[in-house]
Amino acid sequence: MRNGYEKLRARLVEEQLLPRGIHDPAVLAAMAAVPRHLFVEEALRPQAYGDFPLPIGEGQTISQPYIVALMTQLLELTKEDRVLEIGTGCGYQAAVLAAICRQVYTVERIKPLLARARRTFDRLQLFNILSKADDGTEGWAEHAPFDKIIVTAGGPSIPAPLTEQLADPGVLVMPVGDRDLQALTVLRKQAGEITSRIEERVRFVKLLGAHGWKTE
Ligand code: SAH
Repeated sequence: MRNGYEKLRARLVEEQLLPRGIHDPAVLAAMAAVPRHLFVEEALRPQAYGDFPLPIGEGQTISQPYIVALMTQLLELTKEDRVLEIGTGCGYQAAVLAAICRQVYTVERIKPLLARARRTFDRLQLFNILSKADDGTEGWAEHAPFDKIIVTAGGPSIPAPLTEQLADPGVLVMPVGDRDLQALTVLRKQAGEITSRIEERVRFVKLLGAHGWKTE
């Protein structure tokens, strides 16, 4: 089945990513390489490369492959980057980031999800991912500043600690909006100035925490 999954990934790139404007070679290579099926439970593996999100337990979901690729591309990653991710979930997005850049820091508030993600990182020998269970809306001050920050849950606004912990120059990508619908927001810090723009409409699970939603 190894080959079978490799073929499904090649098809994913051809059919879901290239036609929709994913062009960053590093992102395409990472999407073709990271075994998404190993991040979901066994019963869901045959569907892992479909054009849709999947449940990962605890009421959370792993984003559709295209959204993972789009957010990764919007970060404009380089090999030297140190990246902070909020919302580890199953760990798939973190693994895609880790395939491209130097070091990934990822924070998840639900402990059992983080424990499972860590087992998958070990299995895949992804040694450039450091993770912790905590409220990611506070960032991870100890390792700041970060060249890039990605938030994979939707919140009412960009948490202030994350903007503070972003390097200059730096890029942050996060779904911002109400509880049901958000806009993928790209914030850029450059020469002391902060600008932001909106990409497409998206639907993410909630960012819960001190600088996110206060209730489910
Ligand atoms: N990047 C993940 C997507 C997981 S869904 C993946 O590839 O699977 C979003 C995740 O954000 C959920 O697991 C949810 O528990 C987590 N989350 C929500 N609020 C959070 C917070 N304040 N800090 C850390 N994680 C949070």
